Amino acid sequence: MQQKADIIVHHVEVATMVGGRYGLIHDGAVVIQEGAIRWVGPTEDLPDLRAGEIIDGGHRLLTPGLIDCHTHIVYGGNRADEFEARLRGATYEEIARRGGGIMATVRATRAATAGALAEAARPRVQSLLDEGVTMLEIKTGYGLNLETESKMIEAMERLSAELPVEIVKTFLGAHTLPPEFQNRPDAYVDEICKTMLPEIAHRVEAVDVFCETIGFTPAQTRRIFNCARNHGLAIKLHAEQLSNLGGAALGAEMGALSADHLEHLDEAGVRAMAHNHVVAVVLPGALYTLGDKNRPPMDLLRQYHVPIAVATDANPGTSPIFSLLTVMNMACVLLHLTPEEALAGVTCHAAQALNRQDRLGTIEPGKQADLVCWNVSSPAELSYYLGYNPCHLIIHHGKVIG
Ligand SMILES: [Zn+2]
Repeated sequence: MQQKADIIVHHVEVATMVGGRYGLIHDGAVVIQEGAIRWVGPTEDLPDLRAGEIIDGGHRLLTPGLIDCHTHIVYGGNRADEFEARLRGATYEEIARRGGGIMATVRATRAATAGALAEAARPRVQSLLDEGVTMLEIKTGYGLNLETESKMIEAMERLSAELPVEIVKTFLGAHTLPPEFQNRPDAYVDEICKTMLPEIAHRVEAVDVFCETIGFTPAQTRRIFNCARNHGLAIKLHAEQLSNLGGAALGAEMGALSADHLEHLDEAGVRAMAHNHVVAVVLPGALYTLGDKNRPPMDLLRQYHVPIAVATDANPGTSPIFSLLTVMNMACVLLHLTPEEALAGVTCHAAQALNRQDRLGTIEPGKQADLVCWNVSSPAELSYYLGYNPCHLIIHHGKVIG
């Protein structure tokens, strides 16, 4: 008896991304069954199957669904007033003294309901989804107390239930010091470890720390990571963005999935990351917005074969950017990634940064059927355009969603 497939996509240029390379199959086809990829190969070798739906790709490009592995996309208010003030010459210090900066977002987030936070985030998330994002990570970190951090998670749960996207929830209670704990950082770390994490651990899968001179010290980061691991959670961190505190090496030693930002990363840090298979997540949107001239050490990362992921860092202050394609272009222009590296950065390497490499990020048999068909003929075109969305068709978990 003839076997049955749910969907067959044929006559597509398949960028498999296996091993971090385009791995192009010219005039290829993909067989989808029960949400998973069952077969990939040239259209002419397609097995004889009955299919519920046959999609002729018209020789368009087919890639894995895109993954945005670092966002702060749930928050209250916005900071357009600060953007304007800075353009008029105000410094960050002046803005912070007026109660602006991250504290403005913390106040607005604390004042909002979970429903209002989800409502505000929905169009921003939808903007990512329209460009073929089928999975994204969202961090807490604008509550800085148990009540509001929980509320942010509830907003993420609502988005996850409403939208066709898989959301990885990360607890970033150690984003900055809340006003209630001013000059008492260790007491706040106690609060995180003894009060917040025990309550929140079952609703998130990872813990992130802003390890920085204006954030948390390596010793405080280590305490929070130990606590996270005791709760069975994955760890990752914001490291080496403004200075080199050795956060990436600390994360590597403790088994972090990724170290993110890395503008001040040195060779010892790169070596530690390589040795422990830590993904380097670069965030060119923040460099662009801040006009930061520092750059992560891309050549060293390549030399040591550290997987490089690319993410939007979508947030109201330093990266109000809700387009992963735009950020791929920025990664090429500002950080000199090749288009192949940029695509790997939002597919297979982003999957690894979220510990999903066994299920997502490439087009090969056994993987979840998250696929995007693009109105382009070569993968380099995805990083080439700016302000143009060539997304033609999206398949999430084996279903055509747009
Ligand atoms: Zn961030």
